[in-house]
Amino acid sequence: MNYPMYAAIEGPLILIGYGSIGRGVLPLIERHFEFESAQLHVIDPLADHAEFLRGKGYAFHQVALTRENHRETLDAIMAGRSGGFCVNVSVDTSSLDIMRYCRERGMLYIDTVVEPWPGFYFQTDSDPGKMTNYALRETILEEKRRHPGGATAISCCGANPGMVSWLVKEALLQIARDTGMGEQAPAIREDWARLAQALGIKGIHIAERDTQTASYSKPARVFVNTWSVAGFLSEGYQPAELGWGTHEKWMPKSASQHDYGCKAAIYLNHPGALTQVHTWCPTHGPQFGYLVTHNEAISIADYFTVGSGATPDYRPTCHYAYHPANMAVLSLHEWFGSGQMQTDHHILSEHEIVDGVDELGVLLFGHAKNAYWYGSRLSAREARELAPYQNATGLQVTSAVLAGMVWAMENPEAGIVETEEMDHVRCLEIQRPYLGPVEGHYTDWTPLESRLKGFGAESDEDDPWQFRNVLAARAQ
Ligand code: NAD
Repeated sequence: MNYPMYAAIEGPLILIGYGSIGRGVLPLIERHFEFESAQLHVIDPLADHAEFLRGKGYAFHQVALTRENHRETLDAIMAGRSGGFCVNVSVDTSSLDIMRYCRERGMLYIDTVVEPWPGFYFQTDSDPGKMTNYALRETILEEKRRHPGGATAISCCGANPGMVSWLVKEALLQIARDTGMGEQAPAIREDWARLAQALGIKGIHIAERDTQTASYSKPARVFVNTWSVAGFLSEGYQPAELGWGTHEKWMPKSASQHDYGCKAAIYLNHPGALTQVHTWCPTHGPQFGYLVTHNEAISIADYFTVGSGATPDYRPTCHYAYHPANMAVLSLHEWFGSGQMQTDHHILSEHEIVDGVDELGVLLFGHAKNAYWYGSRLSAREARELAPYQNATGLQVTSAVLAGMVWAMENPEAGIVETEEMDHVRCLEIQRPYLGPVEGHYTDWTPLESRLKGFGAESDEDDPWQFRNVLAARAQ
């Protein structure tokens, strides 16, 4: 197989975190970039794969980066050099601090989430607003305002957040074509937002159904997932958060708004993994998703805003609606049922998974053709054939990291960017070979069809796409 070689990496190549995403992204980096083995340094507190990495000629540093040691650790690797590329796919490290360090040295940087140092996610005795992705994202936006331009640092470039923002643009263009609203792709943010407004997009779900399954049942007291369990526990416990659209007529009683920043989002006073919403994916059709907070719920809503602040002319509602793998659903049930967060974690490997698909796309709704889902329907079987060391979920993430790395090398002085600001056509061109079938599906479904009838459940019959109808009746 001849794989495209996109660029030669000059200078140190630092991979922080060698978990499920780190292990999956490395073979894509090896496949698509030129570099010498002596350039590559892997940092992780767990040494499970040290021998494998050293066997390939890479340096392995068994270190847990902290607020106190990260500069010193990275300085030792940089040895006075500048340039290079840092790929941060770890948990419990500050994206902001590491990004800042890299940019000071002219080093390109990419991550898949705005990750904080430990302690942020479980501040149980404080205002839930402090535990939000809104708060985390605002720290990156503030850094961008204070230090515009400079070495490219891409924030949140995985599958979601990440790829889904590119899919939203593709979906908007498809809906525009199918409704006779034109063929021309907008060139600037304001025009993308106006296109979404003109199409009548009321909201966007990041609608995901993961059906990957193993040959055995979930063991008791083990949290099983198809990607980082630590990551899912953290985001699942954070308050549910969503970009808040201008068409909304009702707000849940548990909702709060921030009094600073972009004001594009609200948060609910309960964990996302306890907040169910009605959504739709192609294979299973109508289904529950968890309204787990994600950076893209805010960044997409913010990007597609016409006007600004808390009362813009137009903004779509946007949030994640995630049906994880069945074993992960059972794991959540066990955690919240017992009040005991599992300490035993397991990520299903590509070899354990016997069947299933990660159907990950964007559902754009409220327009002339009702609703349109556009996304990747990558099966675990196909993922195994496409690249080693990852399941379908992993490959959707790692191929987005690959696309982001290529874009960064092609645009090395873009400063801090979010994925909405990148060239979605170029990024999807790089990523598409790893996504399995990428398909668009229109549906007549609305959340009114799935809503609980009776029991005093209140719906808005006049506008099916009100968040009041999307939010499961019992969560209101
Ligand atoms: P994982 O839990 O499998 O791996 C995380 C790795 O980080 C582990 O190997 C762990 O030992 C290491 N680590 C822990 N503390 C560290 C520290 N202080 N310094 C350096 N390394 C440390 O997680 P994963 O599935 O590989 O996910 C990695 C990251 O990617 C997570 O932040 C996750 O939330 C994110 N992610 C994003 C997307 C997306 O689509 N945007 C999807 C999946 C995962």
